[in-house]
Amino acid sequence: MNILVLGGTDEARRLAAALVARPGTHVVSSLAGRVRDPKLPVGEVHEGGFGGPDGLAAWLAERRVDVVVDATHPFAARMTASAVEATGRTGLPLLILRRPGWRQGPGDDWRWVPSLAAAAELLPSLGERVFLTTGRRSLPVFAGLDGQWFLARSVDPPEPPAPRRLEVLLSRGPFTVEGELALMREHRVEVLVTKDSGGEMTTAKLVAARELGLPVVIVRRPALRAGVPAVVTVEAALAWLDSATGAGTPG
Ligand code: NAP
Repeated sequence: MNILVLGGTDEARRLAAALVARPGTHVVSSLAGRVRDPKLPVGEVHEGGFGGPDGLAAWLAERRVDVVVDATHPFAARMTASAVEATGRTGLPLLILRRPGWRQGPGDDWRWVPSLAAAAELLPSLGERVFLTTGRRSLPVFAGLDGQWFLARSVDPPEPPAPRRLEVLLSRGPFTVEGELALMREHRVEVLVTKDSGGEMTTAKLVAARELGLPVVIVRRPALRAGVPAVVTVEAALAWLDSATGAGTPG
């Protein structure tokens, strides 16, 4: 059984680790290859894109892949679209493993927006000092906001264009509530901007914002593709693979 796991997330790494241990299963995990020092999954790794749906379809045929699991980040919409198209064309089963989005709770002051551009539009009405956690490639969207000061946290350094009043914090999660509280207090943050990534590893900033009574601008995630099976946990993905393909049984 040959399985391609489209990765770049904690769930993808955990899925690969579980699959590598299964007799009769060969798993390749793929990464976009953009982070300088990525956390690598166990097992074989393919780094770099496939060249769109055509390239992916050719790669799947060449590598005799039996099933594809798209365990990419909820905002990796192009990769997901490419997986849907390539598997549709080649007739291969595709499962989407997507962690649930965050749920607003009592005390949260969340402002849902449909895009990063809408987040940028809303910011001037919410505060001057902004904690931006939407990734280094989102900075150009905020570059025109001269009235705001930004603390931008990312794994790798951002490239221009970027906001004029900017402090960059290079750091990789998971983060603690205590750490996030200290960071937001130190920088006198007035508003937090995040994508609805979901997951446990990055919730601390939301808890900290709630404790400090700060508004959070939260970008909605792209909708899941109708008709494509989707699960929210690694365990459910393993169960789906068992029932759909017989993965886990030798041979
Ligand atoms: P994207 O916009 O959907 O993808 C752009 C292109 O990058 C894809 O068309 C594909 O190139 C290549 N690519 C993306 N993910 C890939 C993967 N897992 N394996 C091989 N090629 C991949 O994706 P993105 O938002 O830039 O995210 C890139 C990677 O970072 C993903 O693996 C994702 O899981 C991870 N990540 C993303 C975010 C986020 O906020 N977007 C956050 C954390 C982690 P080809 O068309 O050439 O195949």
